[in-house]
Amino acid sequence: MPGRFLTSLVVRLQGQLYLFDAGEGCQINLKKTKLGIKSLRVVALSHLHGDHCLGLPGLLMMRAQVPEVGPLTILGPPGVERFIRQIHESLDFFLNYPLSFFEWKEGCPEVAYEDDLVRILWGPLKHTTLCLGYRFEEHPRPGKFKPEAAKALGTPYGPLWGKLQRGEAVATDRGDILSPSLVLGPPRQGRKICYAVDTRPNKTLYRLCQDADLAFLDGMFLPEHHEEAEAKGHMTADDAARVAARAGAQRAVLVHISPRYAEEDLEKFIDAGKKRFGNTEIARDLQQFIIPYREDDP
Ligand SMILES: [Zn+2]
Ligand SMILES: [Zn+2]
Repeated sequence: MPGRFLTSLVVRLQGQLYLFDAGEGCQINLKKTKLGIKSLRVVALSHLHGDHCLGLPGLLMMRAQVPEVGPLTILGPPGVERFIRQIHESLDFFLNYPLSFFEWKEGCPEVAYEDDLVRILWGPLKHTTLCLGYRFEEHPRPGKFKPEAAKALGTPYGPLWGKLQRGEAVATDRGDILSPSLVLGPPRQGRKICYAVDTRPNKTLYRLCQDADLAFLDGMFLPEHHEEAEAKGHMTADDAARVAARAGAQRAVLVHISPRYAEEDLEKFIDAGKKRFGNTEIARDLQQFIIPYREDDP
């Protein structure tokens, strides 16, 4: 739609980027965000319907314009590697970085990807073809630093505090080795995001959405068109909000709104969602969501 691009979500954490879905023209909006494409580590595709994957070739080509760019991991359903290898072979476009593919298959581990910052879980949703939902989890952070405990153990304020705070063991002047556990509270949980589009509610969706700080959910239709939603393997705004509420998510963001609805209809999605879950919003192109750490974090 003019003014309404296809659904994609890019997550930035400590300067690193993780992209979920790449519909046609995705690289244009990614460029508008000015996040840079060099630090893109992962592209996770939900399924091989064009509105979720046709932007990937252009994105790969755009990334190849960056000198000395690092490797890229692509997650998706079976067939995603063939799709990209074939288009690469047909168009013979330039690639200056390695691609690694991981395709979901029955019985594969629930953790699709893990690095020093995060892990990404996946699972099959309920659509007209195999469609994957994702859960993005930041690793737990070290517990709160207790300055009194550090002082009592003979480490004066200084660089050693920083090390302990980051969870590293340090040696004191007296030659003792101090474990960070002596001066840190219990580990604090990382933030969690669920990304699930093109689906009806199913068990996997609830699991991926469990206790998420932010849940990006397919809310393609208004409740009055629920029969169509069921037939096409999508959710209505209230379906999505109900899932978020039952799964204990903190915030629900409705995405992938059908192009049949005009700009003035969008408020109705929020109204329908809020009846089920108060923290329901609708995503606009290029909208940013900042996810704070939980205040009630122990
Ligand atoms: Zn689809
Ligand atoms: Zn779709």
